[in-house]
Amino acid sequence: VSATWTRPVPPGITAAELEAALEAFADELGAERVLVSEADLREFRDPFQHESSDAFTASGVLLPTTVEEIQAIVRIANERTVPLWTHGQGRNNGYGGPAPRVKGSVIVSLRAMNRVLEIDEELGYAVVEPGVRWFDLYEAIEERGAPFMLSIADLGWGSVVGNTLEHGGTYLPYGLDFQMQCGMEVVLADGDLMRTGMGAMEGNRAWHCYKRGLGPTPDGLFMQSNFGIVTKMGVWLMPKPEVYMPLWLTVPRDDDIAPLIDTLRVLMLDGTIRMVPQIMNTLLLGAVLSDRARWYTGPGVITEEAIGAMAQGLDVGRWTMRFALYEDDAVADHKFAKIKRAFEEAIPGAKVWGTKHDPADIPHLEHPAERIQGGAPSLDWNNMTGWYGGEQGGHIGFSPIAPLTGRDAIEVRDLMRSMLAEVGLDYIAGISTLSPRSFVHVTMVIFDTSDADQVARAYDVCSRLVVEAAKKGYGEYRAHLDFMDLATDQYAFGEHAYRRFNERIKDALDPNGILSPGKQGIWPARLRDGDGVR
Ligand SMILES: Cc1cc2nc3c(=O)[nH]c(=O)nc-3n(C[C@H](O)[C@H](O)[C@H](O)COP(=O)(O)OP(=O)(O)OC[C@H]3O[C@@H](n4cnc5c(N)ncnc54)[C@H](O)[C@@H]3O)c2cc1C
Repeated sequence: VSATWTRPVPPGITAAELEAALEAFADELGAERVLVSEADLREFRDPFQHESSDAFTASGVLLPTTVEEIQAIVRIANERTVPLWTHGQGRNNGYGGPAPRVKGSVIVSLRAMNRVLEIDEELGYAVVEPGVRWFDLYEAIEERGAPFMLSIADLGWGSVVGNTLEHGGTYLPYGLDFQMQCGMEVVLADGDLMRTGMGAMEGNRAWHCYKRGLGPTPDGLFMQSNFGIVTKMGVWLMPKPEVYMPLWLTVPRDDDIAPLIDTLRVLMLDGTIRMVPQIMNTLLLGAVLSDRARWYTGPGVITEEAIGAMAQGLDVGRWTMRFALYEDDAVADHKFAKIKRAFEEAIPGAKVWGTKHDPADIPHLEHPAERIQGGAPSLDWNNMTGWYGGEQGGHIGFSPIAPLTGRDAIEVRDLMRSMLAEVGLDYIAGISTLSPRSFVHVTMVIFDTSDADQVARAYDVCSRLVVEAAKKGYGEYRAHLDFMDLATDQYAFGEHAYRRFNERIKDALDPNGILSPGKQGIWPARLRDGDGVR
């Protein structure tokens, strides 16, 4: 803790006004649920920044436990013009973690609102508070012995609500086209409590069963936005199948990504594969399963020879696809034969294999990917950020969307790889097909957070990638705090008609601009122009 530390103050108020607001929050929540020390606040920075960076530091953290407390927080914030920043677990690593876009904002951390409120075994859904983690919901389902599976993200410590609101990807069948979410409760900036869909009718039992309602469906407006604080959400659960069959595909050449994607599209469009496969290059799997120094210690980016040695040594392909079937036994056999034939005929040297399991065995499977696709959460996948820096490793997720064609896969790969090579960084890629017609190419720009020069090069190349990818028609599906404005700038049709639409909603719902200013490039009127925050 440094002697010279001063609390960051958000734009528009003085340090004394901020202190008074923090006291008002403490009167409402109790001092133990208002974190204000430098040491506490360090835990709420982006963990993947360089140590010296303080661009996105908060001035305090609030830990409410009830909806009423959240309503009191927005009342105080309105009275005192204090910008808030909401997260669920705040594990948005690769995109800014728990940190706010505007320095000096007060974080509303919903970590303590972590109750699973309901599991409906008749209709197959759960209702959760916003701090519930994948670990928590999975355990609640298993403890009851409920015969359902949850579609999860790679890391179990994230919040179900936070990940969903960020358009985050999950991998089981309900991960396709973001099927899982149904019905929300939201605190608006003026403290109003609204329920979406059928929940807008008092006591309606179809709130978490039917995704629309009467009139416009606002759920999507609360995702990647700053229009409200979500306090409850319905999550659909999938019945456990007779057979769970995790599958693997490897291809031997880098350009095989094109026929791989073209073959996969056909199998996804006709419903043979109905989940979210992830296609990883050798380096991504290498980063999960080992570390860089084992394969290469020379200068510059890792060489072709070293990548070849790694593919051989780890027995992985130049591209490896993890995917799975969830079926009746006989259907699994039929689909497996069809899938194997399709890939092995289309791509010389391709290999497809897998083993059928009783869903009860999923938590005991050895490979973390086979557990993740079976809905059993862990933190095993986190290893990849240690590629350069071990414990000090960090990454930025640069994640453009493209149509699901082989041509696009090659074009995106070539752009990412060449631009990263220019700044001496390895090309580490995971491609997820979030729908049968599109993929997100998550470029893991990994660096050592203790190496200031490498961190600077990583951030610099990412901001240039935002622009260069957009020129070719590839826009980001989710943006890091550092590039949120730049990424949103690329969505410029009709002289930024989409951004102006969002800003008009923002100004109407949140005239004082207290909720997460700057989230996804949406700024309230008072911070939009003039004072340089945007
Ligand atoms: C190794 C690794 C693997 C990863 N794998 C995946 C993956 O498989 N899929 C994936 O999607 N991501 C992945 N990520 C990115 C990220 O770690 C996860 O998405 C993580 O779950 C996000 O953290 P969270 O769920 O705690 O969200 P939070 O940080 O809590 O929330 C994310 C954002 O949503 C908004 N928000 C959250 N809660 C609320 C609320 N109640 N009301 C209003 N707004 C809110 C805020 O803007 C917030 O910044 C990965 C990252 C790493 C490092």
